[in-house]
Amino acid sequence: MVHYKELGLVNSKELFKKAMEGGYAIPAYNFNNLEQLQAIITACSETRSPRILQVSKGARSYANQTMLVHMARGAVEMAKEISDPAIPIVVHLDHGDSYELCVSCIESGFSSVMIDGSHLPYEENIALTRKVADYAHQYDVSVEGELGVLAGIEEHVQHEESLYTKPEEVEDFVGRTDVDSLAISIGTSHGAYKFPPDAEIPPLRFDILEEIEKRLPGFPIVLHGASSVVPEYVEMINQYGGKLEGARGVNEDQLRQAARSAVCKVNIDSDGRLAMTGLIRKALSENPANFDPRKYLGPARDGLIELMKHKNQNVLGSAGNG
Ligand SMILES: [Zn+2]
Repeated sequence: MVHYKELGLVNSKELFKKAMEGGYAIPAYNFNNLEQLQAIITACSETRSPRILQVSKGARSYANQTMLVHMARGAVEMAKEISDPAIPIVVHLDHGDSYELCVSCIESGFSSVMIDGSHLPYEENIALTRKVADYAHQYDVSVEGELGVLAGIEEHVQHEESLYTKPEEVEDFVGRTDVDSLAISIGTSHGAYKFPPDAEIPPLRFDILEEIEKRLPGFPIVLHGASSVVPEYVEMINQYGGKLEGARGVNEDQLRQAARSAVCKVNIDSDGRLAMTGLIRKALSENPANFDPRKYLGPARDGLIELMKHKNQNVLGSAGNG
């Protein structure tokens, strides 16, 4: 077992406390490869934002789980070199789907895990989440649970419709599972097609969020599926041979409003995917004779840095808090 403190990581407890007091949310950016990881560390160091490096089950199998932990270790060292004093880093499992996966991540040095039992019947969600929390807390690892179901596609899991979180369940759930934060469903969704192409984008259900805040005062809330599906990158993908029709996301003003509330962690993955894809397509198209991967991955990484700096500064308000 490698404990996360040996890797120079922190759990999310202290970060969430400060985010709650400061009226901002911490970005949770997913990474699967070197360029995404470099972008997160650089963007968050330059804006002095705390950050959560998020790893999914798919990322673990894509990059190799041993490699990923060493990448995270490298990220901590890189962060120390480029920002003084160092800004805290959390390594978090996104959408853990079993007790065994959470244990494996904790044993390899993760400082935070999500156990997603949101698709299970209520009592089964509680039992699974409690089991993970009991194990994780022995090692001071933070645990995120989820109530309510988000629409959209999250790697291999797809849901047609969102089921909003029921505020009347949250106190019972948090009390019985002992989770440290709770992901809720108030209208965000996974993927790049969050809303039907012709309909008006519906506002987030702030009424549900407020009711949850009343029932769980000071408790950290998490929003998944919070990409804005930045139109500039969707257009770039389409301009350079891609085909993304009707891709739309959550309005950034709505996310800014949510970040001022009990929402302490906001997951942004699709926007980074779109930016990288658009910029890689552009670079390949503009330089057809190039065959050096650095010449198209480099601009993609630079664009990702700009996107993340914008999110930290203008959407989440996390800049300057690291
Ligand atoms: Zn998610």
